[in-house]
Amino acid sequence: MISKIRLLRVSYLPKELESGILYVSKKYGVAGHLCPCGCGNKIITPIGSTEWHLIERKGKPTLYPSIGNWQLSCKSHYWIHNGEIEWSYEWSEEQINAGRKAEEMRRKLYFNKITSKRRKWSVFTNIFRYFLRE
Ligand SMILES: [Zn+2]
Repeated sequence: MISKIRLLRVSYLPKELESGILYVSKKYGVAGHLCPCGCGNKIITPIGSTEWHLIERKGKPTLYPSIGNWQLSCKSHYWIHNGEIEWSYEWSEEQINAGRKAEEMRRKLYFNKITSKRRKWSVFTNIFRYFLRE
């Protein structure tokens, strides 16, 4: 278990991450680090207005909101605050379910967006086909 993390700016996230380093690619809007519990899992967090916010102060990163790896077996939950790992309680069954639901919703919204685009497109092609008919 580690308690400190420093920020390293990169253009691409390296394949092998080192623990204790938060790799940030501004170009791709993504940050990556190894789960600080020591389980060795890569944690990738998109950085952007709808995902995580990154604040840097003297090379010390702060990520907001907290990082909850409830999908991993370690289920670690922590904050990266001013270069420190601040551990939280474990996810309760309820929180895990809430997290899953939120993710499902996001996925559904995304899927709906794609299918509605497709639907519009197929209406258009149908009209087009209609005019092409002899
Ligand atoms: Zn872990």
